[in-house]
Amino acid sequence: MSNRFKAAVEKTLGDAIRKDDDIARDMWCALANVDWYHPESKEMASYSFRAAGGLIADIRGKGSYLDWYCSGPYATVSEFIHRSLKKEGWIYDDKPSVCDEPGCLNYVSCGWPSIDGRYRTTCTDHYDRDQSRAYQPEAKNTNDNG
Ligand SMILES: [Zn+2]
Repeated sequence: MSNRFKAAVEKTLGDAIRKDDDIARDMWCALANVDWYHPESKEMASYSFRAAGGLIADIRGKGSYLDWYCSGPYATVSEFIHRSLKKEGWIYDDKPSVCDEPGCLNYVSCGWPSIDGRYRTTCTDHYDRDQSRAYQPEAKNTNDNG
């Protein structure tokens, strides 16, 4: 997570995010599932749905990520936010990531832990249901009623 990205958001949009619920919501939409890049400094910033909500709550100085979590359509960057951050050198890619299987150019639609412990992000074609099910990070038996 880039502190410089956060600083750019605070500088250009902070007041608007604090004053205007609609802009705060638009900011969540512009963060969730969007990759932001600063080509000059080679920095990148990306936020999960929760982290995006957390940033808004942080900037507003109140509430929690839940106040903004899924408050609008994700991966949607408004013209105002796009221009404000572009002025600070930040540009975005709102397309999903590409499948990690070599040679595959499909968009990612699944994230799953493979049997070797590596976290995979793949298209549905390369999602291995059996491997994903076989992986048990904590072998706790939650059905044990004693
Ligand atoms: Zn694939």
